[in-house]
Amino acid sequence: MADILYIVVPCYNEEAVLPETSARLRAKLEALIAADKISPDSRILFVNDGSRDRTWALISQLHQENPVFSGANLTRNRGHQNALLAGLMTAKDRADMVISMDADLQDDINAVDAMVDQYYAGCDIVYGVRSSREKDTFFKRFTAEGFYRVMRFLGADTVFNHADYRLMSRRALEGLAEFKEVNLFLRGIVPMIGYTTGIVEYQRGERFAGESKYPLKKMLSFAMEGITSLSTKPIRYITLLGFLIFLISMISLIYSIVRWANGATVLGWASVFCSVWAIGGLILLSLGIIGEYIGKIYLETKGRPRFLLKEVLDRHEEN
Ligand code: UDP
Ligand code: MG
Repeated sequence: MADILYIVVPCYNEEAVLPETSARLRAKLEALIAADKISPDSRILFVNDGSRDRTWALISQLHQENPVFSGANLTRNRGHQNALLAGLMTAKDRADMVISMDADLQDDINAVDAMVDQYYAGCDIVYGVRSSREKDTFFKRFTAEGFYRVMRFLGADTVFNHADYRLMSRRALEGLAEFKEVNLFLRGIVPMIGYTTGIVEYQRGERFAGESKYPLKKMLSFAMEGITSLSTKPIRYITLLGFLIFLISMISLIYSIVRWANGATVLGWASVFCSVWAIGGLILLSLGIIGEYIGKIYLETKGRPRFLLKEVLDRHEEN
């Protein structure tokens, strides 16, 4: 008997893409079932992340028409990462392997076959990695690749050019469930789980309908979230910076004393003015970064639930 696959798809205001996405995913799943690669109990699980449009109505309708479509409904919008986690945790107890992907099918669904093959070959986590970003705008490419570089520089272990398109086995998901953090950055946590991993390369396409739900503002806060929840290096750099500035001020102090002893008048209110502002700015910046961590600690100590589910639609024929 082949293993059960669940494809988890977080959806936020995706009524424009759902009809097409569901048709394509269903065709993919049916082909895999026909080839006996996955069990007929495999499902496509759409997670509705508190959409304001008809997304949930569409998901319920799909489920009515064909049990291959399952649905999970969050009580409100919790953001991509939490919606994805809700889907993964819902699928964990029902599936042997779970693949996560975006609703806009920017990730090539034909990579699913290779992921499933690698799963049977013994991989517990298979990362989908973009082989090129030709279809992305220059701006998106530049900011996204810059983000991966900064992450690496700050010591956060992420897979280059891998978004949230990946396969995870049930035991890998059970590992993920042990990570209880509220400040969730899946891309950084998944590599910490361990086990044998594999990579499948694919071309990333354009969003075929609807708009990106990740405008620049969300992207920046996502990057900040990623860095501060994976690495404490920024705090260390602040310490280094403070030390450096102290050293510079000592050197300039000695320099001024020597100048004064030689009778040269100390003019230059400009230099005083500038340095006061520079140091003031640095102090505020440093406090801000430290505050970012303290805010995270605050959120973690409360241990609030990361998502709440209103209902789950999932049915299997009795056999
Ligand atoms: N998404 C979500 N909740 C949100 C924002 C986005 O579940 O608050 C989902 C969205 O429906 C899509 C995925 O996250 O399936 C990625 O979003 P999008 O394609 O807009 O991001 P981009 O590809 O532009 O980075
Ligand atoms: Mg997209």
